[in-house]
Amino acid sequence: MSNRLDELPSDQQSHWLDYIAHCALGEQECMSETGADQDEIEEFMLNNDYERCPACQWFEETFKFIDDDGAVHEECEDCREDK
Ligand SMILES: [Zn+2]
Repeated sequence: MSNRLDELPSDQQSHWLDYIAHCALGEQECMSETGADQDEIEEFMLNNDYERCPACQWFEETFKFIDDDGAVHEECEDCREDK
């Protein structure tokens, strides 16, 4: 199945990427404006190197799950720092 978000022009893709990663309402607005569903958003974000942190539910850049010595964590950098 094709992902509606992958078919958007690249300037719109980067807009949504940034918006979803940094704005609490980003996902909601993306769904209502593009017609994409949750799965499409997850896939779109993953394909663009963002992962959802299970602790804070925010999408974070993939590198935030990997620390300096290369260990991969489940939670993002920000959540690990809060502990
Ligand atoms: Zn987090």
